Amino acid sequence: VEDILTSFAERRGEAGIFLDYDGTLSDIVPRPDQARPAAGVAALLEQLAREFRFVSVVSGRATPELADWLGPKVDIWGVHGAQHSVGGRTEWSPSATPHLEKMTEVRDAARAALRSKGLPEDLVEDKDLVVALHYRAAADPDAAQTALEQIANDLAEEFGVVRADGRKVIELRPPVEMSKASVILDKARELDFRAVLFAGDDLVDLPAFDAVDELSRAGALGVKVAVDSPEAPKELIRRADLVVDGPRGLVELLSRLTAT
Ligand SMILES: [Mg+2]
Repeated sequence: VEDILTSFAERRGEAGIFLDYDGTLSDIVPRPDQARPAAGVAALLEQLAREFRFVSVVSGRATPELADWLGPKVDIWGVHGAQHSVGGRTEWSPSATPHLEKMTEVRDAARAALRSKGLPEDLVEDKDLVVALHYRAAADPDAAQTALEQIANDLAEEFGVVRADGRKVIELRPPVEMSKASVILDKARELDFRAVLFAGDDLVDLPAFDAVDELSRAGALGVKVAVDSPEAPKELIRRADLVVDGPRGLVELLSRLTAT
């Protein structure tokens, strides 16, 4: 562990650090709008950004919310790379923009479908380009999961959108490339990293692990970190170079990368 961290830190001037948010920098909470960064995260990100070539938070969430919690200076890719925010400015990627209008129709249809099944509308999270259906906070999560899966499949067919599943959440996305992997690969091309680290906790983070592997094959030092929890997917743990215990474990690991 020390070896790989030392080698990574030695390349700080040419290293990129990419971090998922929920379950990685923040504990999973019953309601997604309650997620706040773990203790020390905001200060740590600022310090890492001063010392390393590039530091970014890459999340499925909308970026303005993350910017509120992490501070406007942090480089944030939201909505799986379709939205970017830094220095208080938020922009959509060009491939995302044409789908924004249709996704508001999907959101409205999702709310109506939940109402008709007697489920609370606030299980629907509106991320403009992505509609997320959450069942963690439902009175009966198992029953809600069954109902939301049916709703998601119906909407996917009706509107030609894509279903993607995460931890107690089903997302409906437009049929465009949206992934943490493309954020990492695009930045690596732009900045020519000699080392790259990604940390995540969920199945949606596996493409980011693939991206790190691709850069490793091209000669960079790749470090894949899995943030463990009782819900952690086995595949993620199996493929990780390092496994840490929850967001607190990640903060501890990242702190060891800093010079001071
Ligand atoms: Mg996560």
